[in-house]
Amino acid sequence: MIDMHAHFFPPLSPTQSRVLDAERGPWLDPGDGESGFIMTGTERFRPVRRALWDPARRLEELDAAGIERQIICATPLLFGYGQPPERAAEWARLVNDLAVEHCADAPERLQPLAQVPLQDTDAACREVSRAKANGMLGVQIGNHVGERNLDDEALVAFLAHCADAGMPVLVHPWDMLGRERMPRYMLPWLVAMPAETQLSILSLILSGAFERLPRSLRICFAHGGGSFAFLLGRVDNAWRQRDIVRRDCPQPPSSYVDRFHVDSCVFDTRALRLLIEVMGEERVLFGTDYPFPLGESEPGQLIRDTPGIDEGTRRRILRDNALRFFGLAGTDG
Ligand SMILES: [Zn+2]
Repeated sequence: MIDMHAHFFPPLSPTQSRVLDAERGPWLDPGDGESGFIMTGTERFRPVRRALWDPARRLEELDAAGIERQIICATPLLFGYGQPPERAAEWARLVNDLAVEHCADAPERLQPLAQVPLQDTDAACREVSRAKANGMLGVQIGNHVGERNLDDEALVAFLAHCADAGMPVLVHPWDMLGRERMPRYMLPWLVAMPAETQLSILSLILSGAFERLPRSLRICFAHGGGSFAFLLGRVDNAWRQRDIVRRDCPQPPSSYVDRFHVDSCVFDTRALRLLIEVMGEERVLFGTDYPFPLGESEPGQLIRDTPGIDEGTRRRILRDNALRFFGLAGTDG
């Protein structure tokens, strides 16, 4: 199995956190060594466990779960898109070098995605090229920068650069909309995250961005593409009925599903079946959101338990699709 959606958080000190933000920079309080906290300035942001920052513990857990390889990316809190570009660029270099370090002892098992200062396209493109030269496998981006969605011209230019550079892109929802109406129950994670991802995919489709981006762009959306698969019929219907929906999008929205991938992190066999049907079995990649509580607790179980898919499909989702997406050489077994 290859898990392509997993997070890490480096053991950043309070001093290092000031590279990004003098008062509210993110850092790690490792607590008793087994469980600690992600901190922002002096505030506890989230309780976390050792596997998030310790590669040795991560590898033990991967062994126990039967995961041969894991693609890791930063926790979205680390993006820094709200900061001045030079500061965010220095921060991205720091976090990316720590990501490379996290994977260094097991280069066949752990491979990192980079983060970039996405608020500045030139700086983001430079960091992608630097990351690639340092052996990073691809890039993770947040699904928006402030008010700008992925169809923003500067962000489309960044995606085109990633295609040229041969760097695959994982799009992760973050900085969720409508938080003032969702103060409780983790509703931003349950309602706004899937909506954010839906918004990103539709912004690329309906703006016609996929018409301008090269087919060589490899782009994958987290959490099964959020609400996308379930609502695609609604979008196609709107495209057929209303000229304001199809104004910039020459083909039916559903015809663009061959331009992107999604991960399998949907927690329900019925949802996974729908996802495979809508996206095609070649475009669903095994991803767990490890090691967070909203991740898959028994990695691979969902795919193994889903009825009506054959062994070949399981193998593609659990492994082969990721090898192809990331351009990795496959080994048997
Ligand atoms: Zn995630």
